Amino acid sequence: MTWEEFEKLQPIAATLLKNSIKRNRLAHAYLFEGLRGAGKKEAAMLLAKTLFCLHPKDGFFPCEACSNCLRISHGSHPDVHIVEPDGLSIKKEQVKQLQQEFSKHAVESNRKLYMVVQADKMSTGAANSLLKFLEEPNADTTAILITEQMQQILPTILSRCQIVSFQPFSPAVLKNKLIENGVSSTMAPLLSQLTNNISEALSLNEDEWFAQARKLVLKLYTTLSKQSSSYAMVTLQGEWSQHFKEKKQLDLGLDLLIFIYKDLLSIHLGKQEDLIYPDQQTRFTSDLLSYSPRSLAEKMAACLEAKRKLNANVNQQLLMEQLVLNLQGGTAFV
Ligand SMILES: [Zn+2]
Repeated sequence: MTWEEFEKLQPIAATLLKNSIKRNRLAHAYLFEGLRGAGKKEAAMLLAKTLFCLHPKDGFFPCEACSNCLRISHGSHPDVHIVEPDGLSIKKEQVKQLQQEFSKHAVESNRKLYMVVQADKMSTGAANSLLKFLEEPNADTTAILITEQMQQILPTILSRCQIVSFQPFSPAVLKNKLIENGVSSTMAPLLSQLTNNISEALSLNEDEWFAQARKLVLKLYTTLSKQSSSYAMVTLQGEWSQHFKEKKQLDLGLDLLIFIYKDLLSIHLGKQEDLIYPDQQTRFTSDLLSYSPRSLAEKMAACLEAKRKLNANVNQQLLMEQLVLNLQGGTAFV
């Protein structure tokens, strides 16, 4: 990650850290908190390179090419330490080892930096050792604790850290990130609506079940708009109920269905650039004659009602049959 990317993805966190470095007012300890995939560890690596780079561009931006930048990228810089869970937890010995390393003079300069990734996984012993460490700050040492679960961190540790919150990505930002990561422009808008987590989106993109789910939802929509309700029921009893077995799966299927009606509404409003199923634009546009904006809103409400019933443990087959009756046909301009 570069500073430019960091500022685009996490403007508040990036500005705060950039100003602190420029004014030479870096805190002794930071806690980076926020959802998985929000770029916390990448930001910590960027911060490390910014502090250690031998040839920073414009006196600030890490060059990514000097020996310090490269060793930080490879995790082999002697004055930059990364502590991560060993198995399920971060053990006391790991923190002790870190302290021993840091009690020596810095190997190459006076500066040292350590990161504790998944800091919420510290055992009680590890947390208490770290606390002692944080209580005796060294002027040239920077600590970065990283967590998705701030509520699991000891209050005494929290009170010694400056907290930097990382926001979830907006769908538009995530969509572009996914395309940069090789996701097709057909799938990226849909994935970015379903999650704000890049790694989750990337794994859904590779998921056969999900690809099939998308096809089935489009198929159900087609039968609903073109065929009789009995035909839609046949689809439901066959492939649909085979595929969307679990509650969580059906919940996702209903979201995928809602997105179709949302797309039809976007076309009504002339917002083609917002489409979640961009590859269906021609078909949706020709279907539009059958749907008034009001009937689309009603269909979306019917899907939301089905989701509510699902969460209230109503029988899945029953709620889908009711939904199909509510979604039947275009009911143009009623
Ligand atoms: Zn460099």
